[in-house]
Amino acid sequence: MKDGREIAFIGIGSNMGDPTANCLEAITRLEIVGDIEILSRSSLYKTAPIGSKEQDWFVNCVVGVATTLGPLPLLKKLMIIEDSMGRVRKEKWGERIIDLDILLYGDKIVREEGLTIPHPLMHERGFVLIPLEEIAPDVPHPVLNMSISLVADMVRDQKVVRIG
Ligand code: ADP
Ligand code: MG
Repeated sequence: MKDGREIAFIGIGSNMGDPTANCLEAITRLEIVGDIEILSRSSLYKTAPIGSKEQDWFVNCVVGVATTLGPLPLLKKLMIIEDSMGRVRKEKWGERIIDLDILLYGDKIVREEGLTIPHPLMHERGFVLIPLEEIAPDVPHPVLNMSISLVADMVRDQKVVRIG
């Protein structure tokens, strides 16, 4: 952005307690934590869990933000919000009260210990791409060099249900 801030897209998901309320609560916390301005928010979507099947359905959405934070400080803030909402870190892909992922950070490609941007699995996940497409259809995926809409075309077969 001209003001020196970067545009980032953050994926939000929950499948414990009241997942819709948890996603909305995470957005509220993103707004009050400082250095992050919410610019856009997708609808909420429902998807079946991947990994172990004895889990509740997920609710997912994506927000577009403008931030002065670099990628690692942004990830740190997301983790603080996850912790503040009571997330317990157990197995990967296990059930979680809240999950906050950096999907895109401008057109930057980041490959560091503990942080990969674009998010390494986003191109195969309908529950990320369908909400992201809603607010950022023409934004390029900097590794695939394709618009988000074109990447989303590859996951149209996945069941992602808009719930509001
Ligand atoms: P997932 O979100 O893939 O289901 P987890 O949330 O359990 O899995 O994984 C968290 C770990 O993923 C964090 O420790 C973080 O360091 C790492 N990570 C790597 N890239 C990213 C990213 N782009 N956004 C968020 N976390 C990331
Ligand atoms: Mg995560």
